Amino acid sequence: MKYRYELVDRIPAQLTEGIVYHTEEFELAGLLCACGCGHRVTLLVPDSHQVWDEDGFATIRPSIGVFDAPCKSHYVITAGEIDWHPAFTGAEVDWIMHAQIARHVARDSQPRSWIHRVWSWVRKFPSTLKRLRRRR
Ligand SMILES: [Zn+2]
Repeated sequence: MKYRYELVDRIPAQLTEGIVYHTEEFELAGLLCACGCGHRVTLLVPDSHQVWDEDGFATIRPSIGVFDAPCKSHYVITAGEIDWHPAFTGAEVDWIMHAQIARHVARDSQPRSWIHRVWSWVRKFPSTLKRLRRRR
């Protein structure tokens, strides 16, 4: 089986085997697990994965780790071809999940503190202006 690439508006409710669905608007990709277990794999694009169209076939980087299904499959898809990696062990899954959550927390807190700084500056601006006027 080779994975075809399909650019869609929305990931369909029923996925077809052998197709990587990609929606730029929702920044998601969806496919059925390559092992045939029927698990629906959802990827955050471009947050966690990159998806390209190569002559109609899908390339996905980095590797896909199916942590949330019993198969624990791990593979890379290049121009539609599946390159199998050893399945994850429970400890590896825990470690990767932990790292991903940590990354999300780090990313989420950054823009908030940046916006917070700008916002507090904007809020203080009228009083700063008043202070400057008084000084003149
Ligand atoms: Zn699977």
